[in-house]
Amino acid sequence: MLQTEVVIAGAGPVGAIGAARLASMGINVVCCETTESCASDLRASTFHASTLEMLDEIDAAEPLIGLGLKAPVYQWRDRRSGQFVEFDLGELADRTRFPYRLQCPQYHMSELLTARLPGLAHADMRFGTKVLGAEQDADGVTVTVSRAGKTETIRARFLIGADGGHSAVRSAMNIGFDGFTYEEKFVSLSTAHPIERTITDLAYVNYLADPQEWLVLLRVPELWRILVPASVETSNEELLSEESVAAVFDRIVPGQKVETSHRTIYRVHQRVAKTFHTGRMMLVGDAAHLNNPLGGFGMNSGIHDVWNLADKLWTILRKDGDAEQLARFDRQRRGVTTAFIQAQSIENKALIEQAPGEAHGARMARIAATAADPVTRRAYLLRQAMFQSLADAEAIA
Ligand SMILES: Cc1cc2nc3c(=O)[nH]c(=O)nc-3n(C[C@H](O)[C@H](O)[C@H](O)COP(=O)(O)OP(=O)(O)OC[C@H]3O[C@@H](n4cnc5c(N)ncnc54)[C@H](O)[C@@H]3O)c2cc1C
Repeated sequence: MLQTEVVIAGAGPVGAIGAARLASMGINVVCCETTESCASDLRASTFHASTLEMLDEIDAAEPLIGLGLKAPVYQWRDRRSGQFVEFDLGELADRTRFPYRLQCPQYHMSELLTARLPGLAHADMRFGTKVLGAEQDADGVTVTVSRAGKTETIRARFLIGADGGHSAVRSAMNIGFDGFTYEEKFVSLSTAHPIERTITDLAYVNYLADPQEWLVLLRVPELWRILVPASVETSNEELLSEESVAAVFDRIVPGQKVETSHRTIYRVHQRVAKTFHTGRMMLVGDAAHLNNPLGGFGMNSGIHDVWNLADKLWTILRKDGDAEQLARFDRQRRGVTTAFIQAQSIENKALIEQAPGEAHGARMARIAATAADPVTRRAYLLRQAMFQSLADAEAIA
């Protein structure tokens, strides 16, 4: 039976970074990924400054920056009037070497790190290996995996579930995943069409508020990414049809024919696992929490989870730390997930979808007031770049 110190289920961005971080600390890690290569879907495209600082410690920030776009400025816009409020992360240049959001598809990160893992002394990257379940005892975890049609077991001191929203590790831990699912579907489209020629003064990251159809316009190097809501009553097939997609673009760039590169429908959830650790099994990333993409917090907070957890595992495995380390990981990361990630993403959605009338005006006025005052603006930027949630987590005993 294969023996190791840590098994990670899943080589999405969170699992891949966890494996690279643990291996860099000299901890033996086996990373099991169901698929034969990294998923290349266009989900996360924003890496925040606080995350880039972590990636820099494993020499992954600069290669990723080379593949992305630096977006210091982002906008909250009223879709109908065209009025906008801008925030400039460049104001954090005294706080970080990365005073911007890096706009880069998440798969670049997973591909970069999983390509490196086989060359690292302490890492074992296993594609085509699905974690089926796990059982733990006082000394470790026995992880059952299927690989090439055969069932095998791996014995480890700890198991990390970085296996996404439908986590098999969370099922093995038998814990709840409470929260809610948004009623509407999210339609994600991408195009090389020059939208900036029609909607002028766009930044690379734009949240356009509207009571009828809010719109997110994000730039990655070759494409604009578009996110709009759609009725749950409409079938995915219809939402992805030429006619529906043309209608979405007709409301953005009227009268222009737009070719798309990707079309995807998502159901979006706000959920947090009841606990992020049970004995020797831990949850990170989407396996531990889900939130809407407004603000770009999902993947980033998952990376912050696994970074925090790696430190705790190192203390246990190399410094005779005890299980209290893992309880603290849970308190810290679940604490900020609930207090900040969930709360802020829900607030961002309320801001972009707007209730008609008073509430709409009040929300936009509040964001304008935040941008106008240097003290509140800096505090806001530190929250959005996720430095504040890291500090808040660190302050939890
Ligand atoms: C439209 C959209 C836009 C988004 N934009 C942003 C953004 O800008 N910024 C941001 O921070 N977040 C964003 N997110 C959220 C982000 O995509 C997720 O939070 C992120 O992918 C979570 O990473 P993960 O590694 O935890 O999980 P995943 O990316 O889901 O990866 C899980 C991996 O585990 C593998 N796996 C699953 N089950 C098993 C098993 N049993 N055994 C082995 N392997 C398994 C899967 O194949 C997969 O490779 C967005 C999401 C959406 C839908």
